[in-house]
Amino acid sequence: MLHKNLSINEKGHLEFAGVDTTVVAKEYGTPAYLIDENMVLENFKTYQNAMKTHMGEGSKPLFASKALSYTGIYRLISEVGGCIDIVSPGELYTAVNAGFDMSNAFFHGSNKTNADIAYGLKEGVGYFIVDNVFELEEISKQAKDLGITQKILLRVTPGIDPHTHAKINTGKVDSKFGAPIETGMAEKLFCKVMETPNVSLEGFHSHIGSQIFEIEPFSDAARIMLEFVAMLHDKYGFDTNYLNLGGGFGVQYTKDDPQIDYAERIEKLSAEIKEHCRDFGIKQPNILMEPGRSIVAAAGLTIYEIGATKEIEGFKNYASVDGGMTDNPRYALYQSPYTCVLANKMNEKCDFVCTIAGRCCESGDLIQENVAIPEPSRGDILAVLCTGAYNYSMASNYNRIPRPPIIAIRDGKARIAVRRETYADLCSLDE
Ligand SMILES: *Cc1c(COP(=O)(O)O)cnc(C)c1O
Repeated sequence: MLHKNLSINEKGHLEFAGVDTTVVAKEYGTPAYLIDENMVLENFKTYQNAMKTHMGEGSKPLFASKALSYTGIYRLISEVGGCIDIVSPGELYTAVNAGFDMSNAFFHGSNKTNADIAYGLKEGVGYFIVDNVFELEEISKQAKDLGITQKILLRVTPGIDPHTHAKINTGKVDSKFGAPIETGMAEKLFCKVMETPNVSLEGFHSHIGSQIFEIEPFSDAARIMLEFVAMLHDKYGFDTNYLNLGGGFGVQYTKDDPQIDYAERIEKLSAEIKEHCRDFGIKQPNILMEPGRSIVAAAGLTIYEIGATKEIEGFKNYASVDGGMTDNPRYALYQSPYTCVLANKMNEKCDFVCTIAGRCCESGDLIQENVAIPEPSRGDILAVLCTGAYNYSMASNYNRIPRPPIIAIRDGKARIAVRRETYADLCSLDE
């Protein structure tokens, strides 16, 4: 099957992380997100080991927690001594709630408020990734009041278009994120940092986009960044400690996506980085990467119950589920591909081609179109694969639909990691 944590058992049911998904559906209800914690750890350790081996002792991954943020995920990363990136005070709060060592946190965001900055400083966030001069001045001011020096990286745009979807493409010169190198803005921001008290510049960050399978765009970005690093060394005598290349390695959502070996990609990328450093005559900085989806996507799966089905003679078929764009908005947002299967009919012929629709009052509320599954009956369990990233974290309460629970599976045992929202939860903020 698509990923190694998936199999079909003797009953013809879909097994995920060693548990029968139809049994989980009965026990915990639908819709529900399932998270394979063993796979999260394994994926993260793959990055940790490969980066340390090939890029040097100080090189490491930061889990991009916007892909999946709940208390338990920060505990998992903590278990393996990992670092995280956070992009909002809500993610920061969740990490603190998990008891995460915040000196291992990198605080992103293109428009941090004064309150965000105060919160990050109070909680001892290790590194702020500074996007602009406004935020730089505020960090400096607040750090001065606290009598501390805050470590920072600068977010820089290398001007790379990795040929992916426009909405998840962030490294181009005209991006809303960071200071472009090409226009001289990045150098100006660097000069500004050099004369700003109470901040210490540790390095630079770039993120070129997501769902990238080749190393070429990363290597190109690294080259531009290292040329910039070399220029700062020659012109200003500045030594860069960290070069953060962002996130973005792709995952296999469907059979049409390639399956890549992250350790091998990291090894190849490190060879290219070494070559660029040789070309520019500089010492290689420690490398950071920020994988999100490649850590958690395949470690997640969503189960739904099939309700209505509809065959519109001569047009198309629909199968409706008890969730939809509220728990997975990615098809509605970007027509993201997903693999859908009937978890209780895995050995039956997939001869019913249909659109999987959600329950919202919104015709765009679709999980996927042109899906081939066995003829569905009311009560069948539909599983959508590879939903660990950007599903729970992008979920909403549109139509006052409660968010599904996260059922975590560790060593073949399932437990509730985030409970299902209740109707009372929905009204809990209402006066
Ligand atoms: C979204 C994002 C990531 C993670 O991207 P993935 O495709 O999930 O790996 C990492 N870094 C930054 C700055 C991001 O915006």
